[in-house]
Amino acid sequence: MNPIIESLLSLLYPRVCPACGELMVEGERLMCLKCRLSLPLTGFERSPQWNPMMEKLMCRVPVERCSAYFHYRRESPQARLIHRFKYGGQPSLGRELMKEYALALKPLGFFDGIDAVSPVSLSFVRLVLRGYNQSYRLACGVSDVTGLPIVRTLRAAHHRSQTRLGADARARNSGRGVYRALRDNLDGIDHLLLIDDIVTTGSTLRACVEALHLERPEMRISVLALASTRLD
Ligand SMILES: [Zn+2]
Repeated sequence: MNPIIESLLSLLYPRVCPACGELMVEGERLMCLKCRLSLPLTGFERSPQWNPMMEKLMCRVPVERCSAYFHYRRESPQARLIHRFKYGGQPSLGRELMKEYALALKPLGFFDGIDAVSPVSLSFVRLVLRGYNQSYRLACGVSDVTGLPIVRTLRAAHHRSQTRLGADARARNSGRGVYRALRDNLDGIDHLLLIDDIVTTGSTLRACVEALHLERPEMRISVLALASTRLD
């Protein structure tokens, strides 16, 4: 956008940082500088084959690589950022954040050998209630940078919102059988990158990985998320 028009627009419609609510100044993108500097980066991309997120994803099926942009903690500025993206009607925020992270991951070879990206699916009911699948928006951000196709590989049955459940109930709720792999869409994919928004216990992703493995045992699977909660 023309910088003069951008300045005029910011006078009329001041841009607010989605994380802290302060006004943003010219040159600040997606969040204010203060929030950007305090973003708790995971650094998982430096060891994508073994990191705390991989510990959460451990199941019968091995995951090739995994990483997440930043750590997630409730009541933090990052939580507000994600809330805006997930429920606050700002789906483009997630796409842009993931684009930013994908740009950092690309030169590290994180996407090497990957054939397609696939968002973790929402059930039809939740999709209608929310209006969009947040993981799909994140997948768009990865695709913007890598050019990889976005493929729908999973179908989800309706289950209660994960956020209202305790860890045990969540694990049961996201257990096997909740996700089904769409066999026809997996043709020709040797290495798939699954995309999710926040990894908490990892149970949702483990269920997805197992469902995919059931249909295509020889396919390799990697995982990328916007945020991951710390293991305490
Ligand atoms: Zn801020």
